[in-house]
Amino acid sequence: MRTSIVEADLTFVGAGPVGLYGAYYAGFRGLTTTIVDPLPHVGGQVSALYPEKTIYDVAGFPSIKGQDLIDNLAEQAGRFSPRYLLGEEAETLLRDAAGFTVTTSAGTVIRSGAIVLTAGAGSASPRPLPCGDEFVGRGLHYFVPSLSVFDDKDVVVVGGGDSAVDWALAASERASSVALVHRRRTFRAHEHSVELLQKSDCELILDAEVSRIEGGEQVRSVVVEIAGETAQVSRNAQVVVAALGFKLRLGPLETWGLTLRNRSVLVDEAMRTNIEGVFAAGDIATHGGKVKLIAVGFGEVATAVNHAAVHLRPSQTLAPAHSSGGVN
Ligand code: FAD
Repeated sequence: MRTSIVEADLTFVGAGPVGLYGAYYAGFRGLTTTIVDPLPHVGGQVSALYPEKTIYDVAGFPSIKGQDLIDNLAEQAGRFSPRYLLGEEAETLLRDAAGFTVTTSAGTVIRSGAIVLTAGAGSASPRPLPCGDEFVGRGLHYFVPSLSVFDDKDVVVVGGGDSAVDWALAASERASSVALVHRRRTFRAHEHSVELLQKSDCELILDAEVSRIEGGEQVRSVVVEIAGETAQVSRNAQVVVAALGFKLRLGPLETWGLTLRNRSVLVDEAMRTNIEGVFAAGDIATHGGKVKLIAVGFGEVATAVNHAAVHLRPSQTLAPAHSSGGVN
């Protein structure tokens, strides 16, 4: 593994919406930034889990599609050219007189004077289907990259939570057929969505589990076992969406000596962690009045960056100039 060394004023650990906005804000305060994330793309939970869903509670946007919000944030951050290290997880943290060294899973060494943790719920890995893993990338999806994958296909969705119900509803508008397989008779999803599902054309196969996925190069069909019935049923499928939830882990950050509460990093009113020079914002940060929302994370990361700016350059004032300052 070849070691490369990158340097910036601030390192953001996590390129979700909060890390992206933080990178913009740091640039606005005259700081250079590196952003590291194990996912191959920016956008955190929004891009990975619900790029096509509409978000209604981000200030200034009556409604906006998840991926559009992320694209806007990346464009806004791009104004100050943050350095992205995607596909790399921040693994270790060392502190010396000159600042911090973060080493990534790819062996990159990131040097900076301060750190902002924007790592959300940590690394998320999908709960796998008990069978058919060999079809990932060949029709079996844990993340739906775009609604167009459903176009004119036979789709089987597996699961009974909000994501499964939402994907089944979204598919029903574009696919040739949709079947939803769920191992119980009741759903763990919003009542309104369940009502829509029951009125939709989706076939509901309940009390049932997928026992086999069949196909060659691509998925061809899904075989389902229904509780109490000896015969199995089979449905044509070129697309299978497994929406069985995610396993979340803070992973390497757990070993960094941070004070944790319920798998989150405890911060004070300035978004400072217990390690001087390390701040946290967004879903990963917790404090007495915590609410996990994108809008809240944006405010928290602006607070964190303003305090980090003073930490790095004590002669700077905490309050920034207004971004609209140049406009009369
Ligand atoms: P995340 O989006 O979780 O991003 C964190 C990033 O950090 C990830 O990309 C992760 O890979 C990375 N990371 C983790 N560990 C490391 C590491 N060791 N090194 C480097 N990077 C790391 N909120 C709303 O406000 N409105 C909504 O309508 C809404 N709808 C939602 C719908 C769904 C289905 C879900 C799941 C969530 C929804 N949320 C909503 C919540 C919202 O998505 C989160 O509050 C938001 O994504 C938090 O942003 P974040 O940047 O703090 O963290």
